[in-house]
Amino acid sequence: MIALSLAEIASVVGGQTHDIPDPSVQVTGRVVRDSREVEPGSLFVAFVGERVDGHDFAASVVEAGAAAVLASRPVGVPAIVVDDVQTALGALARHVVERLGATLVALTGSAGKTSTKDLIAQVLQRKAPTVFTPGSLNNEIGLPLTALSATEETRFLVLEMGARGIGHIRYLTDLTPPKVGLVLNVGTAHIGEFGGREQIAQAKGELVEGLPPADAGGVAILNADDPLVRAMASRTKARVILFGESGEADVRAENVTLMESGQPAFSLHTPSGCSDVTMRLYGEHHVSNALAAAAVAHELGMSADEIATALSEAGSLSRWRMEVTERLDGVTVVNDAYNANPESMRAALRALAAMGKGRRTWAVLGQMAELGDEALAEHDAVGRLAVRLNVGKLVAVGGREASWLQLGAYNEGSWGEESVHVSDTQAAIDLLRSQLRPGDVVLVKASRSVGLERVAEALVEGT
Ligand code: ATP
Ligand code: MG
Repeated sequence: MIALSLAEIASVVGGQTHDIPDPSVQVTGRVVRDSREVEPGSLFVAFVGERVDGHDFAASVVEAGAAAVLASRPVGVPAIVVDDVQTALGALARHVVERLGATLVALTGSAGKTSTKDLIAQVLQRKAPTVFTPGSLNNEIGLPLTALSATEETRFLVLEMGARGIGHIRYLTDLTPPKVGLVLNVGTAHIGEFGGREQIAQAKGELVEGLPPADAGGVAILNADDPLVRAMASRTKARVILFGESGEADVRAENVTLMESGQPAFSLHTPSGCSDVTMRLYGEHHVSNALAAAAVAHELGMSADEIATALSEAGSLSRWRMEVTERLDGVTVVNDAYNANPESMRAALRALAAMGKGRRTWAVLGQMAELGDEALAEHDAVGRLAVRLNVGKLVAVGGREASWLQLGAYNEGSWGEESVHVSDTQAAIDLLRSQLRPGDVVLVKASRSVGLERVAEALVEGT
């Protein structure tokens, strides 16, 4: 964080100082909520969770060097006491980003936020110091903590914003108002909670509504290939930049191919030039993510050549997203177990089909959560797609939703032994261990709650 005294912080968050002998002491370390991350000069934020109360760690974090605790009650060690810790954290983040010299870039979408955020960070980092959301910490706590990790040197602050309902993105953009706002896509993620795609579009579009107007430098970067995102142009006063494969996009891809490795290549067109990109990431869906990152970087002053080089060298920074491991026996394991929704399932199956040309392919799939009334139809559709893409074997793991995946496969191709339904991850591991043959390609993917990474990890153990 930029150095702030305890007195300044107390005044910004409207808190009372308790047990602080010297309020001019500065917070020079990171602002953290996990006591294990405390370093000398940290501010420790004490949240009351369901099982753990951060206040219980107050003494130990000060012992470990924390300058003070942001708390909702006095704790006997230096503390800034407020009514509501989350509100105070937000107010502090807002104060700090106003003082930073950094350009704020925020992005949201149904699928690909973290992948794209990682791409943007890897491209921008080549130009100037960049701070970005670690992993997927995209909510009302992770976002301010990320913003607070920026320093005087930071030039670009890239923030992933997640929404589970109307008003969520607005809350986040109020805390850390972006200058550049990017919306990737509107899919069906969390559709059960939202009520429909229109509502999801309504919620995601809040990102561009809050942007500064064009003459104040606001830029809205929108996906030209997604009609619900394209339509958000009418909801912003910012300058609109379109990305996508469509001809009207300002930043677009031509000659898109998926190489046999499953990695995409394309020619990047920007308003100031073209350059070829060959990606290290797997799956054609990353073309859209790369174009979004390119549009951001181009707006922030990078050339097509610089962007193309950075995109071609960028890897995944976050675990369990199309993580490819080659085993010594020639089996390829694709661990995409981080999460799943219908869009990302389709993208991953297509990548599997490309990687598996001439090889035997396995799709080890589990439930896509939070689909509400769409759940049966969406699982059925994924099962069918696996057959249409000539996936060799489908292993559906878990309960009712897994049986719908298998049913879809039956309905499409009246499969017999090609599709199996097992009840849990251990059964999937046992089955795969006994049946995998050298040269096979295995995709492992489901919603986070299924825990399919256990399967992927068991398959690559010892390789
Ligand atoms: P979360 O809401 O869990 O934070 P996210 O939006 O950050 O998700 P990622 O973690 O980047 O998304 O990717 C989640 C899944 O979506 C991965 O399986 C990935 O392969 C897939 N995916 C990534 N980009 C796209 C895209 N543009 N279209 C469809 N699927 C995608
Ligand atoms: Mg994410």
